[in-house]
Amino acid sequence: RRAEYDRLRDLPAETQDGVRVRLMINAGLMMDMENLGATGADGVGLYRTEIPFMARPSLPSVESQTSLYGKVLALAGDRPVVFRTIDVGGDKLLPYWQSQPEDNPALGWRSARITLDRPAILRQQLRALLRAASGRALDVMFPMIATVSEYRTARHALELELARERERGTPPPASIRVGTMLEVPSLLWHLPALVQEPIDFISVGSNDLFQFTFAADRGNPRVASRYDPLSPPVLSMLRHLVEVCDAAGKPLSLCGEMASRPLDALVLVALGFRTLSLAAPGMGPVKRALRSVDIGRLRPFVLGLSTLPHASVRDRLAAFARDNGF
Ligand code: PEP
Ligand code: MG
Repeated sequence: RRAEYDRLRDLPAETQDGVRVRLMINAGLMMDMENLGATGADGVGLYRTEIPFMARPSLPSVESQTSLYGKVLALAGDRPVVFRTIDVGGDKLLPYWQSQPEDNPALGWRSARITLDRPAILRQQLRALLRAASGRALDVMFPMIATVSEYRTARHALELELARERERGTPPPASIRVGTMLEVPSLLWHLPALVQEPIDFISVGSNDLFQFTFAADRGNPRVASRYDPLSPPVLSMLRHLVEVCDAAGKPLSLCGEMASRPLDALVLVALGFRTLSLAAPGMGPVKRALRSVDIGRLRPFVLGLSTLPHASVRDRLAAFARDNGF
């Protein structure tokens, strides 16, 4: 298979019936950036900025963050990089920030909740991103946003930093796109208001979204493996999300682990997703599956499954894919 995946690198992720899908990779370490060229990805759809923070004894300065983000952008060349602001807490611990043990860390003081409560940390990171992207495109997204007002507050921090940098005379990025992750179910029920905001894209964090939707710890196999993303509740939920975003003209993507599994990726595209961001090793298998599928044939089958009473429709989907040579 290795040689086949190498050959696929320079071919588009285009289905048999001509649906073009943007495939991006998830990254967080400098060495992950090598995967861009190695996989032929369209860019980095999720750059987990917390990873460099986790390896240090204290919070990195604005200067060292600027230099780090600048290196990431240089390695990406003209491909886009979506920087996600610090997403720590839950399973990703930073000893120098969190002092109180929590009964439910996944539901606790984590991610945007920390950076919105400690705005200096967020502002410093945004300042570093603006400086690093001076003169080129900058894409920023905020994690664990539960309400539209949290999105507004985070975006406002970026606007304040942009104004501050302009005053200092730093040339701004050539363009700025701001988005949010959708990984807390409350935001799903506030979508009509969210898409009215100044927002350039929404990216589904399926790892957290499913953990919260099924109330099942993503890291605990005893419960996590009970629930399948290829299940009617998830299909209905994602279908609704695509419909609202499409109607509002808001670009939508998905950057959780689901996108790295070929069958799951086919289902996402059948539901209407046109951008997926995945772990680099998934690129070859996912692109291969996409190039074999007729989405026009798969879509009605997927939509028909979304009303079944079953816990999982994976077997049915796998059988359909097999029977149709996908
Ligand atoms: C997610 O929650 O799906 C996601 C992409 O982010 P992380 O795995 O870093 O929480
Ligand atoms: Mg997440």
